Amino acid sequence: MDTISLIGKELAAALNSDTAERAAALTERGAAPRLVLVVANDDPASGWYVKSLQRAAGRLGIDCDTVDLGATATADAIRSQLRGLCADIAVDAVMLQTPLPDGVALQDVSSAIAAAKDVDGVSPHSLGLLATGLPGFPPATSEAVVELAKHHDIPLAGKHVAVVGRSNVVGKPLAQLLLAEDATVTVCHSRTTDLPAVTAAADIVVAAAGRAGLITGDHVREGAVVIDVGTNEGPDGKIVGDVDAASVQGKAGALSPVPGGVGPVTTALLMRHVVRAAEASRA
Ligand code: NAP
Repeated sequence: MDTISLIGKELAAALNSDTAERAAALTERGAAPRLVLVVANDDPASGWYVKSLQRAAGRLGIDCDTVDLGATATADAIRSQLRGLCADIAVDAVMLQTPLPDGVALQDVSSAIAAAKDVDGVSPHSLGLLATGLPGFPPATSEAVVELAKHHDIPLAGKHVAVVGRSNVVGKPLAQLLLAEDATVTVCHSRTTDLPAVTAAADIVVAAAGRAGLITGDHVREGAVVIDVGTNEGPDGKIVGDVDAASVQGKAGALSPVPGGVGPVTTALLMRHVVRAAEASRA
């Protein structure tokens, strides 16, 4: 069977073109959209991600500043910084980078991000809005999975989707978004018994475990759609997904590449959220 590649580039380009136009319109009105990234780590991967967000914002006409609190920042210091930024009318959007300092959990500090500026949907408030179907910003990575599927005309309504991963930033919000699309969702995790049997029963498998090569051909039924959210460092330092592409190719009906699948759509959606937040605050 030919396995279609669910490339994210085209969709990201279309989203970015709309975002750039809207950012330009805001700037023309003297209200350039402004995103602030809050960092409290010295992790190289996080540093790389921050730079890539700054570049993406710059290309789209979004102002992007970084506040670096250092890798030993306390939960109080992080909360206080987040509250200050959320109270600042010149800031439209706030993103807190992970990892956080030892002993600081995301849920301990994310409630300090106001939902209107929480463009990556990490706060308990934003996640509650998502779970109850109220307007808010969903986590961009989860939204990217749904938008990538729609862009490639993959139906979700009535389909059985197995999501591998139950984190608050990817797996759980993705399950909510898929339910809102009328999919039937099974959420798997590290204690799931017989993962290959569960995923092989699904029409669509989404891999979001952060384990290189976890999903093999044995986990996928003939013709199923496989969307790979994982970003792991491979043995040669290159980024690889959670899917063992070699064994899934030829069996799956479609597979999203890593890199080049979910990733570019995630960044494009984040930037669209920033512009939306700016439009709402300047309305
Ligand atoms: P996380 O917080 O570490 O959560 C991983 C989840 O996978 C957990 O629920 C864990 O189960 C489950 N898991 C781990 N090993 C498993 C196994 N062997 N079998 C079944 N389930 C297993 O990770 P995350 O933040 O959700 O991120 C997941 C992946 O997505 C990572 O590779 C991350 O880099 C990537 N990511 C990509 C983007 C993007 O834009 N492309 C954005 C964000 C994240 P337990 O709950 O039982 O521990």
